[in-house]
Parts: sequence; C-alpha cells; structure tokens
Amino acid sequence: MDYKILGKTEIKIPILGQGAWGMGGLFSSQIGISVNSNNIDIEKEKKDIESLKKGIKLGWTFIDTAEAYAEGRSEEIVAEAIKDQRDEVFIATKVWPNNFSYDNIIKSANQSLKRLQIDVIDLYQLHWPSKTVPIKESMKAMEQLVKDGKIKHIGISNFSVEQTKEAQETLTKNEIVSNQVEYSLLNRNIEKEIMPYCEKNNITIIAWSPLARGKIAETDVSSRLKPFSDKYGKTSIQIALNWLISKNNTVAIPKASKIEHLLENDGALNWKLSNKDLELVENEFKID
Ligand code: NAP
Repeated sequence: MDYKILGKTEIKIPILGQGAWGMGGLFSSQIGISVNSNNIDIEKEKKDIESLKKGIKLGWTFIDTAEAYAEGRSEEIVAEAIKDQRDEVFIATKVWPNNFSYDNIIKSANQSLKRLQIDVIDLYQLHWPSKTVPIKESMKAMEQLVKDGKIKHIGISNFSVEQTKEAQETLTKNEIVSNQVEYSLLNRNIEKEIMPYCEKNNITIIAWSPLARGKIAETDVSSRLKPFSDKYGKTSIQIALNWLISKNNTVAIPKASKIEHLLENDGALNWKLSNKDLELVENEFKID
C-alpha cells in the first residue's frame, strides 16, 4: 500500500481506503427477505465484516462510513471489523446536514463514537453542505470536538470551491484537511475547479464512487479500457483505480462487500500506468 499526506497534517493515509456505504442493514432490494427481529440480514453483514477485515489485512487501513449509512448500522459493522486492531485503522465518518446545529453535531459525534466503539474519530466530515444551518455554527462545533479530543481532523464532503472557502474562513484554530467528492473516470466534474483549488490549498481529495458504483466493470466501459488491460494485464477496474490514484492529492474509497471484488481492487496497487497511457486513458473518457 502507498500513502499520501492528509491535508496539511503530517499523517499518512492509504491511497485506497474502504468505503462502507451499503454495509450493514438491508439493501433496498432485499426488503421482504428473511431477517432477524432487528431487520438485519446477518449473512450479508458477516460478508461486509469479513471483507473489511480482509482489507485491513491487505493494508487498506482507512475506512469511510457515516451516521447516515443504514441509519448508523454501517458504523456498527465497521466497529466489529476493527475490534482488536483499532490502532491500525484510520476511521472517517460523517454527520448528516439535518444535524448541523452546534448541539446536534456534538450529539452526533458522540453517537458515532459509541456505535464505532472508539474514543476518537480520526476524520469527522460534514456530509453535504447545509441549506439552513450557517457553516460558522457547524464549524464551531467541529472545533469544540477537536478541542475535547473527540475528533482528530475536520473534513467536508460535496463542498464547492466557494463553500470550501467559506468553511475555511470560519475556522479559528484548525484546517480543513479533506473534501470528499464524487470522482471516477465516468465523473470528472471536480477537475475544473474543486481539484485544482484543493491541490493548491493542500486539502486532500477523497474520491467517492471511484468505480462509478461498479459501472467501470461493465462491458461498455471495460471495452474502452481493453487496450490498456491487454498491455498491462490488468482489469478495467484496476486501470481505472490506478489512473485515479495517480492524481496528486487524491485518494479513493471503493466499496467492496465481496472479497473477490476487494482482491481485484487490490490489484490496482504497486504498479503504474505510464504518463503516456495516463493521458490516453483520459482522452478516451474526455470531459467537455
Ligand atoms: P463504488 O465504490 O464506486 O462502487 C461500489 C460498487 O461496486 C459495489 O456495488 C461493489 O460491489 C462494486 N464493486 C466493487 N469492486 C468491484 C469490482 N472489482 N468489480 C465489480 N464491481 C465492484 O461506489 P460507492 O459505494 O457509491 O462509493 C464508495 C464509497 O464512497 C462509499 O462506500 C462511501 O463510503 C463513499 N460515498 C460517499 C458519498 C458522499 O456523499 N460523501 C456518496 C457516495 C459514496 P460489492 O459491494 O458487492 O462488492
């Protein structure tokens, strides 16, 4: 595993982390299947936990979850996976905009700590910008959480450049270390403004849905990556992830409940597309 520095800190985080959206609870398509009294699909959850644990063994020691994922159940699944190895893992979670008032952020962080069964959250992120609560109020709570030792670093997610600047300006003692945004070969919207701004200001980009929710593996996309797959002996997923982590300042958090998916994704590491091929891959998926 390779690492990148998180924001302006001296902390190194793995260039590939494990996304935990969809882990825990039920998939909406599963409603109606046989479950226990808490509406939990135990077999599915066992697989989620196994996959996270296997990821940690492989060096994928950065895990991203959120209070909103499966109503907190995703955080409980992560807790189960990191049990006995908390110190090896960098845990990122998020607070949902409904809870952006000062009091509710403090409450949400405490609830996440409890569900995750940890003493401190390594990276606490505002999940989406709020349309109602002033960012100054939310950031005041985030700084209090740092002061109280409940969270180590402050991150944002889905913030535009303007929203990022505004958020930075309200902080008095801390820096925003990361912005978690959608980024993949199939969605390169951040390249125009957010990515250059974050690079210039040392804010790490955490790419969500880096596999375009699995679409990269589908035939229409993989056939366009076939020349590179043939040349490097890598799958389309491995090519797409390798391209993504070649970007300065950027890490990615693919989600894999299936261990075979995790193992395939792990094959994106420890080799590099040449500069020429990075350019050719980009040209194949041109942005307007
Ligand atoms: P993703 O990582 O792009 O794709 C996940 C999907 O791809 C899953 O269905 C997974 O299947 C499948 N997959 C994984 N590896 C594969 C492989 N090698 N071949 C074929 N299919 C594969 O999408 P995502 O889960 O939306 O995003 C990743 C993480 O980003 C989330 O888990 C979450 O932590 C974060 N996220 C954040 C936000 C935000 O607003 N901040 C929004 C969305 C997501 P299996 O699970 O069945 O293995």
